[in-house]
Amino acid sequence: MSASTPDSNPIALAVPGTRQTLQARVVWGNRIVTIGGGAPVRVQSMTNTDTVDAVATAIQVKELALAGSEMVRITVNTPEAAQAVPYVREQLDRMEVDVPLIGDFHYNGHRLLTDYPDCARALSKYRINPGNVGKGDKKDRQFGLMIDAAMRWNKPVRIGVNWGSLDQDLLAGLMDENNARPEPWDARHVMYEALIQSAIGSAELACQMGMPASDILLSCKVSGVQDLIAVYRELARRCKYPLHLGLTEAGMGTKGTVASTTALAILLQEGIGDTIRVSLTPQPGESRNQEVIIASEILQSLGLRIFVPSVTACPGCGRTTSTTFQELAKQIDDFLRAQMPVWRERYPGVERLKVAVMGCIVNGPGESKHADIGISLPGNGEAPAAPVFMDGEKFLTLRGDNIANEFHALVEQYIDKRFGQATASA
Ligand code: SF4
Repeated sequence: MSASTPDSNPIALAVPGTRQTLQARVVWGNRIVTIGGGAPVRVQSMTNTDTVDAVATAIQVKELALAGSEMVRITVNTPEAAQAVPYVREQLDRMEVDVPLIGDFHYNGHRLLTDYPDCARALSKYRINPGNVGKGDKKDRQFGLMIDAAMRWNKPVRIGVNWGSLDQDLLAGLMDENNARPEPWDARHVMYEALIQSAIGSAELACQMGMPASDILLSCKVSGVQDLIAVYRELARRCKYPLHLGLTEAGMGTKGTVASTTALAILLQEGIGDTIRVSLTPQPGESRNQEVIIASEILQSLGLRIFVPSVTACPGCGRTTSTTFQELAKQIDDFLRAQMPVWRERYPGVERLKVAVMGCIVNGPGESKHADIGISLPGNGEAPAAPVFMDGEKFLTLRGDNIANEFHALVEQYIDKRFGQATASA
């Protein structure tokens, strides 16, 4: 049976779209993180320590930064937390961790940024939630104080709207407008409109106060996948500000991971999103770094960024003889990831490495040849031998009980030989 080629044009490659935006700069010392305007999509994360505990917060920020977070947000909710912020920054600087810190403010940010100038200076960006800056006639004045602080210290801001803390006056006004329509929209569409108007209206107000538009980022976080996609498509259409993407309160484990990935991947493929965060609730005992790993994997899977070497592993099936290949795949993946903070400097380009760990002869040799280095473990009924391929050629065959350790050593040797050259010749 053969299928005919429909016409002479090859099937088009799928490539992520692009969106023209302004470019913001988030700076600490010599570290400049550009956002939007053609810059790579950035990975962001947030601590869950009490900021008052400056040492614990600095340690977690460092861990998140080493895992690949390019900016880290910390809670600044009390005078004590604001006083601790310069110490968090100092601890990080001492450890030579120059990741920019973002202050997350709600309710009292206008006071904290005014009363604690060392806090305002030590942060590299402020997150302002326009739903939580104050009510009635205080709202614009308190928002203005935060914008004043940002301009005084030359810091960009993210105007971060969240449907859990949406500006109730704005929503009520839009509901009234809606009720007067001959055919009212459903409540969900009014809520979308309120989220977008809150973000863009606040940005326009900041600009009227003198803030450069290039110092403003926007976000409109909701917890439903389809809601997030709908809101961000429209937000992207209506403005040129860089956008921070994230599914808020995504949840735990598989559910949170899948929901965040689904929503973010669809928008990123459309070119929407300039920074991302995966708001995962850690499982008991789980590292906070997991949200950084997932965010990085989303970008790497879409081909938007490359952070770590990739390990191709088959799922295993009835042909798989043992758990060796699962263990080996995990061991190699964990090892490569753990080494990256050191290897980024020692082995430039190592993040492009492709390793394959396969369970049997069906796809094992083929997939291993596509990788830089790959192993095809023996499946059910196959001879107890594991051919190893390097650069598309069979290199040797491993046998016996020590296959995992021997392959591990071969991967290290391959990396040193191929990527160590760049350092040696530099
Ligand atoms: S490569 Fe072999 S073991 Fe792995 S899923 Fe395919 S058939 Fe199963």
